[in-house]
Amino acid sequence: LQTLYTPLEQLGKLYLDLKQQILDAEAMFFLLDEPVEINDKPNAPDLKMAPNEQAQIEFKNVSFSYQKKKNAAKIQVINDLSFTINPGERVAIVGPSGVGKSTLARLLYRLYDVDQGAILLNGINIANMKQESLRRHIGIVSQDPALFNNTIAYNIGYGCADHNATLEQVIDVSKRASIHNFIIAQPLGYGTPVGERGVRLSGGEKQRVSIARAVLKDPKIMIFDEATSSLDSITESEILFAMNDISRGRTCLTIAHRLSTVMDADKILVLKKGTLVEMGTHDDLLKVENGVYKSLWNQQQRISDLKKSLQAAKSLT
Ligand code: ATP
Repeated sequence: LQTLYTPLEQLGKLYLDLKQQILDAEAMFFLLDEPVEINDKPNAPDLKMAPNEQAQIEFKNVSFSYQKKKNAAKIQVINDLSFTINPGERVAIVGPSGVGKSTLARLLYRLYDVDQGAILLNGINIANMKQESLRRHIGIVSQDPALFNNTIAYNIGYGCADHNATLEQVIDVSKRASIHNFIIAQPLGYGTPVGERGVRLSGGEKQRVSIARAVLKDPKIMIFDEATSSLDSITESEILFAMNDISRGRTCLTIAHRLSTVMDADKILVLKKGTLVEMGTHDDLLKVENGVYKSLWNQQQRISDLKKSLQAAKSLT
């Protein structure tokens, strides 16, 4: 039993350092080439949200350019973009590769400040609030979370920004993220080392660790970076179930690659070259003649049909 509790004791000791590290580790998900230092304004207030308050997000005429190095040319990625995500709404961002989907999530997490326009959270410009307090309210679920050379209990408990996680809490969130059975099947259970020196986790397992962390963090806003690598259908449906579970009561933004997984989003934003070209539900967007969404959908359907025929042909040989 001691092996299980040691990592949780460490959690307590590391608590103060961890608060900042959690934010840094989540920022690592964005894999920035050139991280930019974002400075808070003097005496910037904390973002304070009441327990039952939900988040409304408004992008108001936002433009943004990357600049690889000082004095290098600026590359405009987001161009005069405006949209609103209502409290508790589930919104997906879709569009061809490189149109700026992840950039929108980075701007919301305030890894960069916008060049023009503003991002408002419940009417307050996020550039005017303390960045740490903003990030505390945003959870990120990806297939590539930062993992530490420590036990699985530590890696999950690490997601908790506001208080020390107890083993009971870690077990509880692991059940909700459908990773508990996998953990207890390991010889050392919750004391199993992961990371480079421990058990290698698959994409689906990492995603579940990321979900468990997010449940513990209990944020008002969830950003889902949809898995790009394929998961088997049981794993995929378990993960979708867990993601649905943690989406409830929160405002959610999904960076989507496969349209089939975001068909039931409340709103789908279609980006093209950094501008919003279409917005609506899946059914609305399929009705747009010569629409970008419709053409992406048809293209993905053709690829999926082709894969199915190839699999069928393989099973015959
Ligand atoms: P994908 O679907 O391939 O993940 P995306 O729509 O999420 O793409 P972004 O990652 O937001 O696209 O990138 C938008 C554009 O900005 C791309 O042309 C990309 O090369 C460029 N870009 C992204 N990150 C940086 C950076 N740190 N510095 C400079 N340019 C960048």
